[in-house]
Amino acid sequence: MFAAKPRAQAVRRSQAGSGAPHAASLAALWQRFSHEHALIAGLLLAILLMVAAIVPGLARSVQAATASRVELAVELPQRESDAASRPTSRSQWKTVKVTAGQTLGQICSGLGVAIADMYKVLEYPGAREPLTRLQVGAELAFDIGERGALRAIRFDRNDSQRVQLRLDGDQVQETISQRELQSRVQVASAEISSSLFAAGAAAGLRDATLLELANVFGYDIDFAQEIRSGDRFTVVYEEIWRDGEFVRSGDIVAATFVNQGREYAAYRYTTSDGKLGYYDDEGRPVKKSFLRMPIEFARISSRFSSARKHPILGKVRAHQGVDYAARSGTPIRAAGDGRVAFAGWKGGYGRAVILDHGRGYTTLYGHMSAFGKYRTGQRVVQGSVIGYVGATGLATAPHLHYEFRVAGVHRDPLKVTLPKPEPLPRSEMARFTAQVTPMRTQLDLIQARRFAAR
Ligand SMILES: [Zn+2]
Repeated sequence: MFAAKPRAQAVRRSQAGSGAPHAASLAALWQRFSHEHALIAGLLLAILLMVAAIVPGLARSVQAATASRVELAVELPQRESDAASRPTSRSQWKTVKVTAGQTLGQICSGLGVAIADMYKVLEYPGAREPLTRLQVGAELAFDIGERGALRAIRFDRNDSQRVQLRLDGDQVQETISQRELQSRVQVASAEISSSLFAAGAAAGLRDATLLELANVFGYDIDFAQEIRSGDRFTVVYEEIWRDGEFVRSGDIVAATFVNQGREYAAYRYTTSDGKLGYYDDEGRPVKKSFLRMPIEFARISSRFSSARKHPILGKVRAHQGVDYAARSGTPIRAAGDGRVAFAGWKGGYGRAVILDHGRGYTTLYGHMSAFGKYRTGQRVVQGSVIGYVGATGLATAPHLHYEFRVAGVHRDPLKVTLPKPEPLPRSEMARFTAQVTPMRTQLDLIQARRFAAR
């Protein structure tokens, strides 16, 4: 998407700026924008502000995210605050990123830091531990004066504290600043030509966000076999950053996915009583009673049929489930909430688990190499690992044999129609609609913009 370095610089600037100069520079930028850029930035700004209004505590991070995007688009005008914060000619900060096997001694001798000064620092309470147990990738900054005199050192004590120690004769002055985590809201949009992962990578999405996207829509879209060239998605998501560096992927805020011409939408929403979930346009949970596939990213090797030739028995027999080929040891997940009705050896099924989901629904998982931690009689929640793919019983290669029964009758798990989950209660809908409608409008605008410009 963007090169790492300018992005980090832009962020640092936006963090350093106080409110007023920031607003002033933004105004200056607007004037320099072409109409085209202004429209895109306007869209981004609108959606980010809208999300900020919805998600408490995001306002500050949203400003930074907007700034990072806006500032990259054009040459930056010089700002007052930049000049003011520029180090004086006396300060000579050198920043070092710790590499594997590097010690503080090596770093200091490389920089020519006076060793006696380094000992003063190490004697300071709380400094020895973080400075002698350096983590790869950690940043240290040294302010070095004449003849290697150490004037100050900066390091991170832990995930949340940055320490500066300034040497003044035999005195050491400590300044602690908080390394605050920032949640930034980002927008990505892509059309699939080869694979979901290729499209996601091209749109600058990290794998974790892409997997989250597949999880959110995984109840409606079969990502193993229903993705087609021309499918597309738009996603508003969070990333957690600190000191201008990416820490981890956050949640998806809102997204749409068009699969084979049919559009699905999902919005993150917290109910009045504090339950977080994803809901579609009508306020129905996207999470269904049953997972589409009880295994992630596996290939269907045999479908449900009333008559087929059994590969081992050689006889024509019905195949009353679906086979998913996967490597031995791949986790198998409970398709729905339920109770373990059986976990043990079951003839040709080998190691098998049967779950009872109530209301007459049961599922069976066969040929497992090993069981999960659940035993007969225990309750499981949807998605928990109940076992691992294997080839026990009558199986020629590792795969999961999955059966779905309604009132004791085998049904095709890929085709059985399941009851739609109940939408949010009427009392919740006004609040839901008020939050989701502006998100919907903005998603539509981004999509119109992105996919009309092809
Ligand atoms: Zn089978």
